[in-house]
Amino acid sequence: MLRLTELTLPLHHADEALPAAICKRLRITPRELVRHVVARRAHDARDKANILLVYSVDVNVKDEAATLARFAKDRNVQRTPDTRYRFVAQAPEGTASKRPVVIGAGPCGLFAGLILAQMGYRPIILDRGKVVRERTKDTWGLWRRGVLNPESNVQFGEGGAGTFSDGKLYSRIKDQRNLDRKVLTEFVKAGAPSEILTEAHPHIGTFRLVTMVESMRETIESLGGEYRFSSRVDGLDIAVDSTGERRIRGLHLHTGETIEADHVVLAIGHSARDTFEMLHAAGVYVEAKPFSIGVRIEHPQSWIDTARFGADAGNSILGAADYSLSHHCSNGRTVYSFCMCPGGTVVAATSEVGRVATNGMSQYSRNERNANSGLVVAIDPARDYPGDPLAGIALQRHWESLAYVAGGSTYKAPAQKLGDFLAGRSSQALGEVTPSYRPGVHLTDLSQCLPDFAVTAMREALPVFGRQIPGYDHPDVLLTGVETRTSSPVRFTRGETFQSLNTAGLFPAGEGAGYAGGILSAAVDGIKVAEAVALSMNGPALPV
Ligand code: FAD
Repeated sequence: MLRLTELTLPLHHADEALPAAICKRLRITPRELVRHVVARRAHDARDKANILLVYSVDVNVKDEAATLARFAKDRNVQRTPDTRYRFVAQAPEGTASKRPVVIGAGPCGLFAGLILAQMGYRPIILDRGKVVRERTKDTWGLWRRGVLNPESNVQFGEGGAGTFSDGKLYSRIKDQRNLDRKVLTEFVKAGAPSEILTEAHPHIGTFRLVTMVESMRETIESLGGEYRFSSRVDGLDIAVDSTGERRIRGLHLHTGETIEADHVVLAIGHSARDTFEMLHAAGVYVEAKPFSIGVRIEHPQSWIDTARFGADAGNSILGAADYSLSHHCSNGRTVYSFCMCPGGTVVAATSEVGRVATNGMSQYSRNERNANSGLVVAIDPARDYPGDPLAGIALQRHWESLAYVAGGSTYKAPAQKLGDFLAGRSSQALGEVTPSYRPGVHLTDLSQCLPDFAVTAMREALPVFGRQIPGYDHPDVLLTGVETRTSSPVRFTRGETFQSLNTAGLFPAGEGAGYAGGILSAAVDGIKVAEAVALSMNGPALPV
């Protein structure tokens, strides 16, 4: 089979136009084209008066060798890559050795657990939060009633942080083994729409994610894996030998139970601050890493659709429009859009009492009234939180606490109209944009819960973005704060064998460990770490 890439057709093309374009491009007759399947479809809306669809197509032709030879120098005509996943190891028959333990049932832990189970290692998966349906009730408890459960919320529980999200499944990772394909294929098996295999910017939406997470749990359990919910890991049992080498031996749960384990995947996400502190106190190597801080920005989705797609706004192939923006400011800071959710809602994303943090989510249909996105400023340890490896956590807590107070100390979020933000005055009344954040917003001055440099940078960037997307900086556009959990503020650095730099048998993974940003990359990292665990379990020793 051949893969033909960069085949462009007008948005409104007829079905027959695709095979005709393939034949034209390959200089073959329609009779020589045996079959074609779309491998990927993207759109190019740079010229909104002439929006194009860009296809990658897998084709069977009568004489494949001759066609390939004819296009030997054309990188857009290649053999279709083999993207099947191949397991790197298999658990030895009748193995009585200790089972691997995965801490965290987010996308990273889920895929680490799945791959270990598929290889026959019968993992134990621990999560501090609850099973996904129970967790959903607790999460809505904050959104509907302003009641936070610190152990079961938008960050903690089965499915991890991405469960109540837009379920965007694209990332910038480049992976020669196509592990992302394994992730997408497993998601489809678990109930995701099959378009995620072909869309250039696939998404699932929160509703389906809940059922998919349940289905994947059933698969893991059917393969001998085991889940334990409401099981927070509060301590590590680490053996130190006479040469000073450290090796994990077991885990202590908050229930008082101890689990023996010599292979532990640490997939705890970016919000397990108490666990970060515990790991640091236990001497596990950790360093501070950059992240970003800012607000959520909300526009009517129709404004973004019109700005991006012109007369084709609302076209079902294009769906709700998204955007990606970035500006380097004169104060040396970079402002960018983050985790854009078309047709979605701004959500309360805190996991700590007395703090407010924002994020965004949407349903598969993406048909809510507003578009939202993080509008954030990149920060780094050297400049903004030097010294202690955990100083970034203190910084997040500081601004989240101020946001809680600015919102009225009820889990309402502080919000401000963009025009007032630029003018440096408190907002008194809403304008054209209706806030989607629950349990509600409190109009105020957001500069009191953001660092000065971030306020200055955002004030410079907003009019620049307004020149790129007309209406983006309309005075009624709503800003809601604070967006602090853009990625992990720490990295649990690992060596070549994916184990902690100074603790053998501990495999830091996913977003919390600083090795992923988003659902897809966290899941891919989970696969890589599961493979490393399997190779280490089958091998004679655990190198550090
Ligand atoms: P997590 O998903 O955070 O999972 C960590 C798990 O570890 C949690 O379930 C937690 O309960 C558990 N845990 C923590 N500490 C302990 C402990 N001590 N003991 C036991 N268990 C513990 N990304 C995208 O790619 N697309 C999106 O559309 C998107 N939208 C998002 C919307 C929201 C509202 C949020 C909050 C995030 C969104 N993200 C999105 C980011 C994405 O969710 C994360 O990148 C991803 O979930 C990280 O996966 P992870 O498995 O590394 O960690």
